[in-house]
Amino acid sequence: MKSFLPLNIRIDNKKILFVGGGKIALHKISTVRQYTRNISIISPEIQDELHQMGFTEIRKEYETSDLEGFFLVYACTNNIEVNRRIKNDAAAYGIMVNVVDNRELSDFISPAVIKKEEMTIAVSSNGENVKKTVEWRNRIKAMLQHGDFFTKSSEQHKKGYVYIIGAGPGDPELLTIKAERVLREADVILYDDLVSSELVDQFKALKIYTGKRKDHHHFEQEAINEEIIRHALQGKKVARLKGGDPFIFGRGGEEIEALRQHGISYEIIPGITAAHGASAYTEIPLTMRKISSSVAFCTGHPVNKIQVPDADTLVYYMVASTVQEVLNAVAKKGRDEKTMVAIVQNATRYNQKIITGTLGELRNSEKAVYSPALLILGENINQFIEDNWYSKKKKVLIVDEDSGIYASEDSIKVHFPCRQAEGADETIPELNESLELDFIDEIFFSSSACVRKFHTIYKSIPEKIIIKTADQEVNAEYRKLFSA
Ligand code: SAH
Repeated sequence: MKSFLPLNIRIDNKKILFVGGGKIALHKISTVRQYTRNISIISPEIQDELHQMGFTEIRKEYETSDLEGFFLVYACTNNIEVNRRIKNDAAAYGIMVNVVDNRELSDFISPAVIKKEEMTIAVSSNGENVKKTVEWRNRIKAMLQHGDFFTKSSEQHKKGYVYIIGAGPGDPELLTIKAERVLREADVILYDDLVSSELVDQFKALKIYTGKRKDHHHFEQEAINEEIIRHALQGKKVARLKGGDPFIFGRGGEEIEALRQHGISYEIIPGITAAHGASAYTEIPLTMRKISSSVAFCTGHPVNKIQVPDADTLVYYMVASTVQEVLNAVAKKGRDEKTMVAIVQNATRYNQKIITGTLGELRNSEKAVYSPALLILGENINQFIEDNWYSKKKKVLIVDEDSGIYASEDSIKVHFPCRQAEGADETIPELNESLELDFIDEIFFSSSACVRKFHTIYKSIPEKIIIKTADQEVNAEYRKLFSA
């Protein structure tokens, strides 16, 4: 293994030679020139940018005797044979050499440098990982620019703080009071796929969508971690909002790991996981005296890792594309073919949909299941689940102001925003793009402007939907636009 000792070498009154006059030399010189002007370049051709720096130029091919009188040499030609020759010649002269991009031939290597007045930060991986070295340098540079480096320990609390928050399964009211308070206070909210924009819209923070909905930039987990850290290091209060509970198939653990590595303080606010949401909103008790005394949360993804624990009630997350595989695995484990199964799509949302059947029936069915969906299996699923309390409620689309005429006992209100929320930025996808009118029973229009906005997106409204308007004028606008 090569080892390199970090040193600060005195170079005033010492001559430095660069062999090569191209891009490679330019790159090296741009660092070296911050420390000395005593630089000579030997090369038949010298790039314009280099030439303009005004160093001593010797326009010729390299020869051994050129090395005489120099303290350090950088071999920057694009010819490995020449670079190797320089290396050997330098060894004979007792001059230390750096062969560009060649750790093996080099006596010294160049760290990635940040220089600010008399201070220098040099980052090095001993030439083993150039990419990482540059990455570190850039990160440190960014930290310097944001001033975090210079905060005294008494100011340390100014360093950001991260909340990892469970947003619940969809119904915005299933957010905890604590989560709501934190979201109100947050500077930045980074939210996932499963978090509805309706929920985040009400907060004034900068909102950054980190999911994979169509037309939006898709963040990898590592990029999400970096984004969280970047904002925290700017001293911000960051809310990381995840669907359901952060610690149930939520990768919350990985985000915490990254925060720990950066010494950023955090806390975790649990959320209602999809299993609990689906259970309550479909009337499937997950445990039931004498019928089910254990429950297991499992995943249907990846398909080659499906487990079937020995529990009375089984809940499978991430089943949209693996229902058959999950049910086959369960059947193989010896579960009775008559065991009831419920697949719950969009649990707790206005478009909640339940597919039920026995294990035997659904194993052989080709019914399409759309994400997000989870599957519950067990004896505790009663025969009436499709007629549950939630399905009985009228689903009302409110465009845009809540009129107060709908009692929550008999209706579910879906909010259609027709004004951009304060502090909203363009990363928020509009709710309307994913609105499924088929699930709506009634629409309430509060103003003519909102009728017009709605009409820009929906040219027609399914006939079965009942229309209500705030007054005659709004009604006239509705009829003008929609009853062609
Ligand atoms: N942390 C989340 C789960 C994330 S994994 C939680 O605790 O709920 C994503 C899976 O969660 C989806 O594939 C689906 O199986 C389930 N899920 C999340 N929200 C859901 C919803 N509203 N309805 C049905 N399933 C949901």
